[in-house]
Amino acid sequence: MGRIRRGTVVGIIATALPLAAAALVAAGLFPGAGERLVTLFLINVIAVIGIGVYSGNSGIISFGNVGFMAIGAYASGLLTINPIVQKTALPHLPEWLMGWGASLLPAMLVALVVVAVVAVAIGVPLARLGGSSAAICTLGFLVIVHVVLVASSDFTRGSQTFFGIPRAANLWVTLPFAILAVAVARIYRDSVAGMKLRASREDEIASTAVGVNVRLHRFYAWVLGAVLSGAAGVLFAHFIGAFSPKDFYFNLTFMLLAMLILGGITTVSGAVVGTAAIMVIVELLRKLEGGVDLGLFSLPTVFGLTDIGIGLAILLVMYRLQDGLLGVREIDEQIPFLKRLAAGGARPAAAQPSAAPVSGAGMLRVEKVGKRFSGLVALENADFDIRPGLVTGLIGPNGAGKSTLINSVSGVVPPSTGRVTIDGTDVASLPVHRVPVAGLARTFQNIRLFRNLTVLENVMVAASAVAKDRDPVDLAREALIEVGLADLADQLAGTLSYGAQRRLEIARALALKPRYLLLDEPAAGMNPTETQELMAVLDRIRRKHRLGLLVVEHDLKLIMRLCDIVVVLNKGQQIAIGTPADIQANPAVIEAYIGRRRSPLSRRSPAIAAAAPDFDPHAAGKPA
Ligand code: ADP
Ligand code: MG
Repeated sequence: MGRIRRGTVVGIIATALPLAAAALVAAGLFPGAGERLVTLFLINVIAVIGIGVYSGNSGIISFGNVGFMAIGAYASGLLTINPIVQKTALPHLPEWLMGWGASLLPAMLVALVVVAVVAVAIGVPLARLGGSSAAICTLGFLVIVHVVLVASSDFTRGSQTFFGIPRAANLWVTLPFAILAVAVARIYRDSVAGMKLRASREDEIASTAVGVNVRLHRFYAWVLGAVLSGAAGVLFAHFIGAFSPKDFYFNLTFMLLAMLILGGITTVSGAVVGTAAIMVIVELLRKLEGGVDLGLFSLPTVFGLTDIGIGLAILLVMYRLQDGLLGVREIDEQIPFLKRLAAGGARPAAAQPSAAPVSGAGMLRVEKVGKRFSGLVALENADFDIRPGLVTGLIGPNGAGKSTLINSVSGVVPPSTGRVTIDGTDVASLPVHRVPVAGLARTFQNIRLFRNLTVLENVMVAASAVAKDRDPVDLAREALIEVGLADLADQLAGTLSYGAQRRLEIARALALKPRYLLLDEPAAGMNPTETQELMAVLDRIRRKHRLGLLVVEHDLKLIMRLCDIVVVLNKGQQIAIGTPADIQANPAVIEAYIGRRRSPLSRRSPAIAAAAPDFDPHAAGKPA
């Protein structure tokens, strides 16, 4: 998983320091009520972070984490409850649970093990789901936990109050846990695992195409988040001392989600800011709720004012700032002073050329590959090789099946018939996230970047899929240098210009150290200068790494100049394959492309050369 980076440490300190400051101020200036309020704030911070670890990184809203809080609260409460109270309150408890009278820490440990076991059991099926189906399942989990708690009255007193829990979670007990939660969540978020999950949140298909095992990382985050939520539940139980199942239900879920979303769901600092903001609103409104006497007139009692207030706050913030108060970047990535501090120890970009490309005399064979979509034959019998060091062009009118071919070969949409092999290994039958490891990378016709990740992170996600003995950061920087984006490493990918986004997609694919690279219309939408830069980059990398390139492109002049072999598709059929010269003279191709009219294709290559005089792939070795 690699070591912890300097930026992460700066981020943890910047996020945790205000928590410690709040604790000190409360204890010093407002002992009693203020102290209790700040303790509750810290517990809420842990609870919100627990949801954020899963929801923020995966993009799936979890309604279920409060269920883990409940499990933590009851499991630990059963162990710490005063034995004398226990005798009267829980007379039907089994022998082995009687009279433990444990202290907070051991009880928490046991409770967290229980939480983790439940989280693992739920997490295995849950990780297969994404989006709203996963969210609904977490909601189902919350309801089930509630029902089980109410039904298990021998253990929980049912819907009655569970009391007699020692109030052991004071400010000074809670503070270290809150700081620990911040640190754990932030280290996870910045780790390779967290980055991969965030990438899947931005674009699940693209993330699997660069080697991310989305299910695995959803599972990790779910379990980690559950344990944090469980800890919050334990602390909450030992803060209030008496509770019932309804304390861990929709109301709490709604409030914690409001805190998370208000602050910014994807960041740890956002979770803290959101929690503080909602707590301030709630405290102010609670004072107003009972009615206020303003001398001349008095405000009436408004029932539910706090909930209305939370709702309005969310509406207002979402209307102005869709990503919450703090947005998608951590606080230390936004404040210039902290940015400098975080960058202080960073090594300069490694300008070293990358290690020797993977050698391999083999080739990628596309054998009779076909794909149908419920009746529609999108592709039939595509059959050709992609050879290392050569550029294979793939052309054909719109809807010919070019993208379908790339999707089939890269496993994103498994082919209905045929095989795709690299040196005899069948790659099309691999899970999609294993295809890059087999040496095959691709880009997408419609750009699929991880928009809310930085340029560097975009490439690191890919690099970490293949980095064995090397730091993914170094690999990523090398790939950025190759496409000329090294200077933009810290920008969010979504803010790049169109041409730069296309090049970033290529850098991300290159970071996989592929032997074969499939590019779906890499120059689409580019202006002539951008196209030329791109072609220079492509020509350079295929020479340097002896890459086997497959390029889909509409600009025929460009294809004719760049490619060694051209494959032509029409209406799902492979109608021709050959050198550019063969293809230009092929009557079937001419007809498929432009009907019976004569066109530039039917003329000889000098016309094409004349139309694109300024590009010479063999001279274009300089950096773009
Ligand atoms: P090209 O990239 O050559 O323009 P495509 O491969 O995108 O063509 O599409 C080939 C044919 O397959 C088109 O008729 C298209 O509508 C159809 N097609 C592509 N993807 C799907 C899909 N997921 N479901 C149904 N039909 C599809
Ligand atoms: Mg296409």
